[in-house]
Amino acid sequence: MEKKYKIVLAGNPNSGKTSVFNALTGARQHVGNYPGVTVEEIIGSFKVGDCKINVTDLPGTYSLTANSPEELIARNVIITEKPEVVVNVVDASNLERNLFLTVQFMELGVPMILVLNMIDNARDKGIEINIDRLEKLFGTRVVCTVGNKSEGINELKKVIGEVVLEKEKHTSKKVNYSDELTIPIQGVSKLLVENNLVPEGYKADWLAIKLLEKDKEIIELIESLESGKKVLEQANVFIAKLEDDVDEPSEIVVTEHRYGFISGACREVVNTSLQKRRDVSEAIDSIVTHRIFGIPLFLGLMYVVFYLTFTIGNPFMEWIQYGFDWLGGFVSSWWPAGSESDLKSLLVDGIIAGVGGVLVFLPNITFLFLAIAILEGTGYMARVAFIMDRLMNKIGLHGKSFIPMLIGFGCSVPAIMGTRTLNLKRDRMTTMLVVPLMSCGARIPIYALIIPAFFSKQLEAPVMFSIYLIGIIVAILCAKLLRSTLFKGENEPFVMELPPYRIPTFKSIGIHMWGRTVVYLQKAGTLLLAASVIFWILGNYPKKDKLTRDYAGEIVKVEQSKVPQDEKKAKIQSIRNEKKAELLSYTCTGWVGHAIEPALKPMGFDWKIGTALIGAFPAKELFVSQMGIVFALGDIDQENPVSLREELPKHYNGLQAYCIMLFCLLSAPCIATFAVTKRESNSWFWALFQLLGLTVLAYLVTTIVYQVGLLFMTV
Ligand code: GDP
Ligand code: MG
Repeated sequence: MEKKYKIVLAGNPNSGKTSVFNALTGARQHVGNYPGVTVEEIIGSFKVGDCKINVTDLPGTYSLTANSPEELIARNVIITEKPEVVVNVVDASNLERNLFLTVQFMELGVPMILVLNMIDNARDKGIEINIDRLEKLFGTRVVCTVGNKSEGINELKKVIGEVVLEKEKHTSKKVNYSDELTIPIQGVSKLLVENNLVPEGYKADWLAIKLLEKDKEIIELIESLESGKKVLEQANVFIAKLEDDVDEPSEIVVTEHRYGFISGACREVVNTSLQKRRDVSEAIDSIVTHRIFGIPLFLGLMYVVFYLTFTIGNPFMEWIQYGFDWLGGFVSSWWPAGSESDLKSLLVDGIIAGVGGVLVFLPNITFLFLAIAILEGTGYMARVAFIMDRLMNKIGLHGKSFIPMLIGFGCSVPAIMGTRTLNLKRDRMTTMLVVPLMSCGARIPIYALIIPAFFSKQLEAPVMFSIYLIGIIVAILCAKLLRSTLFKGENEPFVMELPPYRIPTFKSIGIHMWGRTVVYLQKAGTLLLAASVIFWILGNYPKKDKLTRDYAGEIVKVEQSKVPQDEKKAKIQSIRNEKKAELLSYTCTGWVGHAIEPALKPMGFDWKIGTALIGAFPAKELFVSQMGIVFALGDIDQENPVSLREELPKHYNGLQAYCIMLFCLLSAPCIATFAVTKRESNSWFWALFQLLGLTVLAYLVTTIVYQVGLLFMTV
C-alpha cells in the first residue's frame, strides 16, 4: 500500500522556493486558488521509496503575522492542515534576514527541515555555514541546495522521506528567549492553559507570543471563546508590565528578541570569511589609521624594526667578520711574513677588506628587507601610506608620493622609478628630488659601522632612529620648499584603497626579501669590487722613494734606547704610522683628501674621511670599505687587520661620528640614483640640481650640527 504524506514549502519571496518546488515535483503540479483570496495555491507531488509526498508551495512571506493574506494563509495552512513537515527554504546568502521566518516556525513548534538554498551564491560571497552546528542549534535537519540547478534535491528528498517517517524526532527546538520575554510568555501561556483557551491545533506558548505581538486574528480567536475577554484583560497586565519595564511596545520587544536569537545563532554557525576579514580589517584599521595614534604607532613600529635589526643581525655579523679575517690571514700566508708585495696588498687590503667590509652588513640589511617585506605583505604599508596622506597633503605632496619615499628606505633607484604613479609633473619632480633623503639600505653599513663603535648599547637604536627621522624631516622641508617655489600648484585629491589584512605567505616574503638582497649582493660583487681595486690603486700610487724623514733610522734609535719595552713598541708604532701617512700623502687619494681637507674642517672631518667620502660616490656603502683601506694603510700589522670599529674611536669622537652619518645621509646620492633621476626626469639639469643641491644642503646642515655640537662639548 502506498503511504501518502503532506508537506509544505515555506520561505521568503525570492528565496528560490518555486525553483526547489519544481525541482522536487517535476511536471506533476496543480495550480489553484486558496478559498476566498486571490493567492495561488500550488500543489504537486513526488515519491520517496513507496511514499507519495504531496507538496504545497506556500506563498512567500517574511513573517507569520496577520498583516497580509499571504502570511495568514501560510500560518493557517500549517496550523489547520498539520503538514508532516515544513520545508523552510532560505536564501543562504542572506541567512540572517531569512531566518526571521525560520524562528517563527520554531515558535510554532512544527517539524521542520531547513533548506539552505542559493548555497552557490553564499559560497561566492565567502559565507561558510557550519551545517552540523546549525542542525544541533535548531534541532532540524539541514540540506544545502541550488534550486535552479536541481543540486541537492535528491538529498532533500531523502531527508524528507526520513523525517516524515519519524517526524517526532525532528520537531524543531524551542526558541530560548531571555527572561525579559520568557516570563510574560509563560505567564500568558499559563493563563490560557488554566482557562482552557488553547484550541485544537494550537500551542499555548505560540498563542502567548502572538498576544504579545498584538496579533489581531489571535486576539479575535481568544475573544470568541468562553471567558476569553476576561483572560485577555489578565494577559494585558503581563504585556503592560513588559512595556513598562523596557519602555517599548511588546511587539517590538518580540521582534528584537527574534533578531537577537538569530544574530547569536549566526555568530555560531556562519563563518563569513570575507565579511569577517573585513570586520577584522576594520577593527585593526580603526587603530592603525587612527588620527592621533596612527603616526606614533608607525614610528614605534619602525623603531622596533631598527632595534631588532641590530640585536638579531649582530651575531651573524660577527661570524662573517670572522670569516673575512680568516680569509685575509690565509691569503697573506702565501707570502713570507713582513713582505711588502703589491699583489698581496691588493688582495688583502684592497679586495678582501673592501668587499668584506660591506658584506659584513648583509645580515642587518637582510633583516631590514625581511621586516619591510612582512609589513608590505600584511597590508600595513598601504595603511602607512593612508595615514601619511593627510600629512603629505599638508606639505603639499600627494599621498601617493609616500610610497616611493617608503621604497626609498630600501633603495632610491626603484623609488625614483616608482614616482611614475604620480600624475602631475610637479608632484613627481618634487618626490623624485627628495627621495634620496630617505635613508636607503646602502647607508645602513655606514650606520652599522659607526653606531656600535661610538655609542653605548642603549643609545644604538635612538641614534639610528634620529638619523632616519632627520632624513624624513629634511625631506619634508625640502618638498615644501620645492612645492612653494619651483613646483607651485594645487593638490590633486584621490581615493586610497585599503586592502584587507592578511598573513603573508613565507613564499612571498621570501621572494621579496631575497630579490632585494640579491640586488645588494650584485652591487657588492660588481661595483664594489671594481671600486675596491680602483681605490686601492689610487691609495698606493704614485709611490715615492725619497721621504722627508729617515724613518728606518729613527726606529733603530728607539730600539737601542733604554726605555721600557711597552713604551718602545708604542714609539715604533707611531713612527711607522707617520711613515705610512707620509707615503699616503703622495698618492692620488692622499693628494685629493688633503686638498679638500680645509673645506671639510667646519664639519669636523679630516682628510681620511674626505677620501672615503669621495670613494663613496659610486655607492654609499663604499664609504665603509674606503675607511677600511684608508686605515689599513696607516696600519703596520697587515697580517692581522684591526677591526675598523675598534680603530675609529681612536681617531674621532662621537660628535664627528654623528656628523659623518649625517653627511652621508644628506649628501649627493650614488651614481645609480643620479643616472635614474636623469632618465626619469629626462633632464641633466634636474639630475645635477639634485646632486649638487643635496651636497650643499648636507654641507650646511652638518657644519651647523658640528659647530653647535662643539659649543656643547666645550661647555
Ligand atoms: P521564490 O520567490 O522563492 O519562489 O523564488 P524562485 O524560485 O522564483 O527563484 C527566484 C530567482 O532565484 C529565480 O531567478 C531563480 O532562478 C533563482 N534561484 C533559485 N534558486 C537558486 C539557487 O539555488 N541559486 C541561484 N544562484 N539562484 C537561484
Ligand atoms: Mg515562487
